[in-house]
Amino acid sequence: MNSRDTELVYGLLLENGYGKADSAENADIILFNTCSVRKHAEDRVYGQALLLRKWKRKNPNAVLGVIGCMAQNHKEKIFDKLPHVDFVCGPANIYEIPELIKKALSRRGHLLALDRRQRPNVGQPACRESDVSASVSISEGCDNFCAYCIVPYVRGREQSRSEKLILDEIKNLADLGYKEVVLLGQNVNSYKSGRVNGFVKLLEDINKIKGIERIRFMTSHPKDASPRLFKAMRDMEKVCEHLHLPLQSGSDRILKRMRRGYGTAKYLKLVESFRKILPGSSITTDIIVGFPGETEKDFDRTYKIIEKVKFDSAFIFKYSPRPPAKASGYPDDVPPDTKAGRNQALLKLQENVSRRINESLVGKNLEVLVEAENSPGKIETLWGRTRTNKVAVFGGELNLLKKLINIRVKSVTPYTLVGEKLS
Ligand code: SF4
Repeated sequence: MNSRDTELVYGLLLENGYGKADSAENADIILFNTCSVRKHAEDRVYGQALLLRKWKRKNPNAVLGVIGCMAQNHKEKIFDKLPHVDFVCGPANIYEIPELIKKALSRRGHLLALDRRQRPNVGQPACRESDVSASVSISEGCDNFCAYCIVPYVRGREQSRSEKLILDEIKNLADLGYKEVVLLGQNVNSYKSGRVNGFVKLLEDINKIKGIERIRFMTSHPKDASPRLFKAMRDMEKVCEHLHLPLQSGSDRILKRMRRGYGTAKYLKLVESFRKILPGSSITTDIIVGFPGETEKDFDRTYKIIEKVKFDSAFIFKYSPRPPAKASGYPDDVPPDTKAGRNQALLKLQENVSRRINESLVGKNLEVLVEAENSPGKIETLWGRTRTNKVAVFGGELNLLKKLINIRVKSVTPYTLVGEKLS
């Protein structure tokens, strides 16, 4: 979601006559698009922004802004630590950034733009990192208030974008030659358009758009995902066989404290149903270790469930309190070295699981959408993704870019498939 916001802001700036600088030192405007999900990310922004004091002194017309979720969370407190910042702008106010820059250039002191609670339901400026795969926001914010999560406080309550805007945006992307869309929402399954089964209906409409060859989406909340969605995925040829289904913990006690709205039995049932309906698919997840009150026993349950489910990959994080989320009021009682040890143990386990899953693909033929050139100097000159969202590298000519091709997997790492193009 943050990457998509960066594209949005970059597009707005291009529309207003700005261009991309070749380096931070040569830039006249630097914006930090921030994330508040973990404390570590916020600490890094403070550290990096502090380093820009010299740049600001040297360039009196320079503009420095902190935007995004951390801006919404810390508000004017950012100016206390970073007085050289010109403006602080929350995620729902990012359409005001060109105006904020103009005001900052006329030197009107510290500026705050945080008043909106919800982003206006408007179209998206045309600027994308990739010219093959495009992220398309279908909803903003979240109503779930999981105990550890700051998203509902900084991105506001859930608001679905209009179907017309989404479909127009995707038709436009197809006309521009994009082959894949990734639908984004904190909880895509609760997308509301006024139609029954709103998300599935939206997928059906996108599936009909000529030129778009693949549809992905994230994130699905386990309390809202259902076999009905999995069957719809199976029946629409463009929807890829990958599900990101955050588990967060393998302990029912902790899931309850996290206010996730499901238990491990429901989660495992969903996984079983997904794999039955879509054999050969992939499942990825998110895990938090060291949530307040997490005992060795709770952690062991998480360890065991990862062994059992065998996720294709997992984002594994150490818990940090995120005021004003509810759990920030709980004692943060898992010591930092215990959190770090649990994090390492799960990362190691997941690496082994991912390696074994990928090894089972050696010798198989898979469809890949060719996304870009690989790093210079590599024998495998191109990279792309399989339908199951695995990164694959392989040799080939540049005219393969944006095409769907078949590769045979020759070798693997836990994170990448190395293949050869099939003629
Ligand atoms: S579902 Fe829970 S974890 Fe996900 S964004 Fe909403 S509150 Fe946060």
